[in-house]
Parts: sequence; structure tokens; C-alpha cells
Amino acid sequence: MLTDFLSSIRQKIPHQIAQLYSKLMPIQCILCGSDHSEQIICEPCRSELPGLGNACPRCASPLQVSSLCGNCLTHPPVQTVTISLYPYLPPIDRLISDMKYHNKLYLTNFFAQQLCDKVKDRPLPDMLIPIPLHPTRLQHRGYNQSWEIARLLAHKLSIPVCHDALKRVRNTLPQASLPFSKRKQNLSQAFALGNISLPDHVALIDDVVTTGHTANMAGKVLQKAGVDQIELWTIARTIRHY
Ligand SMILES: [Zn+2]
Ligand SMILES: [Zn+2]
Repeated sequence: MLTDFLSSIRQKIPHQIAQLYSKLMPIQCILCGSDHSEQIICEPCRSELPGLGNACPRCASPLQVSSLCGNCLTHPPVQTVTISLYPYLPPIDRLISDMKYHNKLYLTNFFAQQLCDKVKDRPLPDMLIPIPLHPTRLQHRGYNQSWEIARLLAHKLSIPVCHDALKRVRNTLPQASLPFSKRKQNLSQAFALGNISLPDHVALIDDVVTTGHTANMAGKVLQKAGVDQIELWTIARTIRHY
């Protein structure tokens, strides 16, 4: 009972306080409920999270072997590299939904740490740019999960983060609510450039990559402004081919 009460409190507080709390109090793994210290997902559960396996290095589509997929050969996306942690499958889909829509912002630190571990030995970009939300949606949700992850990653990797390099100038319908045939059109002119100078090499940060249209539209705006190399870093990748 007491544990449930403490757990419910932890889920309602900002992740910085949750981090402090986790250092002071043992917490339960959010997946299996076992007691342990500091980590919100215990080591055994982490080792059982689904992996992407072989994937296209440019768009992260799962493949039999890690080589460029047919789509990237014929219609290459704007990003030259996509780093994605997990396939968008249970329990990752539920964790991302909890992070985005149910205020479980403490999950951003877990995902940011996993991303940090995955990219830290690669040549790093000069700036992290989170995919922005439209101000109306930001106001409604209260936070942008991609911004939170980018901010934590920037700190862990000592890279600058810029949350106003891109602006969402059209309040588009949520991509997930649309059939795939309408998603590209939905994002037409959705992004504009902020008033900052950009380096040659940046990484866009997003939670999930599905069709890749969002990153492509955002990346094109950066490319037009002279950015030479654009990477895309995401937590998850949907596993269907489009
Ligand atoms: Zn566990
Ligand atoms: Zn590809």
C-alpha cells in the first residue's frame, strides 16, 4: 500500500525531482515491480527490451543485413544517419505513450541515457535540435518530450542544444491519426527556421520515426539554411516498411 502510494507520487513529479528521489529511496522497476536502486527499469528487464537488430543505417528500417535499404537507395531521406534504440513494440510503445501523454517525464532520462550510450563513441554532431511542437500543442501538453530528451542528451554528451532552431508554424494534425498516404501532405510547410546560426553537422531528436516525413520536412529546412550533415536520433522505429 505504502509502496503504491510512493510510486504514484513519483509518477506525478518532474524527472529532476524523481532523480533526486531515486537516489534517496529505493524504487520499483516500472516493468516488473521488483525493488532495486536508482534505475526505473531494472537490469533484467532492460536486457529483455526488444532490439532493432540489423537495420538500414540511413533510415533505421529493420533489414536482414545492415545495408542501405531500397528506399534510401532510390529516394534518400535528408538525414545521412538514423540512430534508433528500439523497434516500436511492447513495452516500448507503452513507455513512449506514458512519457508523451501521461506526464511520466522521468522516462526521458532513461531514454536519454540509452541514446547517450549508443552514440557516445561515434563522431558527434555540433548541435542537437529537437523536433518542435506547435505552440498550441505545447501549451496543451505542457512539455515537449523531444526537447526534454535533447536537453538531457546535450548535457550528457556536452553538445549544445537549440530548441528554437526550428519552429512549428502550422498546427498539423497528429501524424498517427492519419493514413500513411496523407502524412506527407499534412506536414507541408510545417517547419520554419529560427533566427540562429547553424553549424554544419546537427542531429534532430524525435521520439518515434515512422514514415520519416517529419524528420525529412524538418531536415529540408535545415539543409536549405546550409546545414551539411543531418542525423536523426530517435527512441523507437516502427517496423513496417512504407
Ligand atoms: Zn524489472
Ligand atoms: Zn533506409
